[in-house]
Amino acid sequence: MGKVSIGLRGWRFEESEVFTEAGEVRPLPEMEPAVRQRVARLMVVAERPCDACFLLHGEAEKRRCNVAEAVYGEPLSEVVLCETHEPDFLYWFREAGGSARRGEEGFRDAFHEWFADGGRAPKDYGGIEHVDTDPASLPEAPDPSEPTSALEDELDAMDADLDDLDFEDSDAR
Ligand SMILES: [Zn+2]
Repeated sequence: MGKVSIGLRGWRFEESEVFTEAGEVRPLPEMEPAVRQRVARLMVVAERPCDACFLLHGEAEKRRCNVAEAVYGEPLSEVVLCETHEPDFLYWFREAGGSARRGEEGFRDAFHEWFADGGRAPKDYGGIEHVDTDPASLPEAPDPSEPTSALEDELDAMDADLDDLDFEDSDAR
């Protein structure tokens, strides 16, 4: 079973923990407490404006803020971001000390402080790749059944075919 995002990208869930085999969302009481907390929090923050937009525009200009598309950090100290500001967060997390605050209560405040101080990703900072902000998760070992190994087998088979072709060609000449 794979990991899935619900509503906002960023937080990921084990598919079987949040969905039934029929593909329906499990009732909250059926979920593990930690999963339930995250899903319940997700429902609250999904409608929130982007944290960075909000820092820029404030309550009075809330309508100028983009709706959040991504969520990072832990429930209650999570950061929600629009597509424009997600690179700033990712830059902070990877390059400006953010990952050291992973799992801390002050995670969101630390990002807000950095951003309010003018912290931004460099202009060419692409990188909307997922980062794991969950302190409990460890990098996963590559799955041997992944398509890569099937692809390698296929490439090997192609090599063998090419060898055959070479042989036939030289034979014909
Ligand atoms: Zn934003």
